[in-house]
Amino acid sequence: MQIQKINKQLRENAIENIKNKRERKKDKKPIGAYAASWAGEDRLYDSVGYTIFMVLPTSGCQWAVDSGGCTMCSYIADSPLCNITDDDLIEIFNTQWNKQLEKTDISSHDNVAVKLFVSGSFLNTNEISSKVQDYIFNEFSKYDNIKEVIVESKPEYIDEESLKHLASLIPGKIFEIGIGLETSNEETRLNNINKGITNQSFENAINTINSIKDYDIRGKAYLLIKPILLSEKDAINEAIDSAKYAKDVGVRRIAYCPATVHGGTLMDYLWKRGSYNPPWIWSTIKILKEVRNNVDIPMIMDTAGFGTRRGPFNCKKCNAKLKSLIIKSNLEQEIPEELETFTCECKDKWEADLEFSDILNTTTNPKA
Ligand code: SF4
Ligand SMILES: [Zn+2]
Repeated sequence: MQIQKINKQLRENAIENIKNKRERKKDKKPIGAYAASWAGEDRLYDSVGYTIFMVLPTSGCQWAVDSGGCTMCSYIADSPLCNITDDDLIEIFNTQWNKQLEKTDISSHDNVAVKLFVSGSFLNTNEISSKVQDYIFNEFSKYDNIKEVIVESKPEYIDEESLKHLASLIPGKIFEIGIGLETSNEETRLNNINKGITNQSFENAINTINSIKDYDIRGKAYLLIKPILLSEKDAINEAIDSAKYAKDVGVRRIAYCPATVHGGTLMDYLWKRGSYNPPWIWSTIKILKEVRNNVDIPMIMDTAGFGTRRGPFNCKKCNAKLKSLIIKSNLEQEIPEELETFTCECKDKWEADLEFSDILNTTTNPKA
């Protein structure tokens, strides 16, 4: 419980600092400036397609405000930390959406997906009201070539009625809800991540999603690679076990998030003191190979932050190459031949790290 206490304290301090800093600035950032959108090639369920990503600022993750939130997440620091009216949120959405529509003609792409990120949970109506949810979904329904609409939510906001209602607004499209399971290990999730969910609540949410037969609603699991206070070897094993668990529970797709250190988090606090390192890229490759071969549902390995000081890292000679091979693997949903055989001199260090992390009981892995 000490971890939760420190985590809460750190989060409160971080929020306080942000508020003070923003208060001091004369010309405050307008709420719309917290939004973002971009687009590009990405893997959809059945093919490679065009994906539009949108980040909408909402009041902030309830869990982070109440409990300090997850030990690796800094979403709350990127949110405006104030209430946003429905009209403002709709205007922000329209600005970002129109920006994307100006960039491309959606009908020129056969398969389009839209991924919506908010500061916490899209399905939490305290964060994003039903009126705004409906508005956004009605916009998407105008485009036949949008095949997938993806949102994120904690399990407690997932209920049959609202799922059915939202799915009915986008008939014929896949409606996917990504849930941050992070790991199937209850102890790690409680003590190292402070996620505030249980396997039971996750299973209930997935069962609810899968019980709806009138619409194509699917559950996705986000899995964190290398939470704090876990050895490299344990992190790999847990990540692989978690994929198997998620598949068995009825998840339709897996997205791995190899840890990147974000400011104001407990992960950042430990990293600055030499008590945490993000995973080796070799570890993510070991997980990728194992899961592609043994868990037969689509899987994406996020490569954000790869090769940076705060992200997954091998050595300067191989970081970029391996990142591009992982992206290729994401698009093709296969293991590229080159990845099967690729090696680098830093691989020995990684292997030694795995061997000795147990003996030394260490969660850090000094790199070149
Ligand atoms: S990971 Fe999700 S639930 Fe956890 S603090 Fe961040 S937004 Fe909230
Ligand atoms: Zn290397």
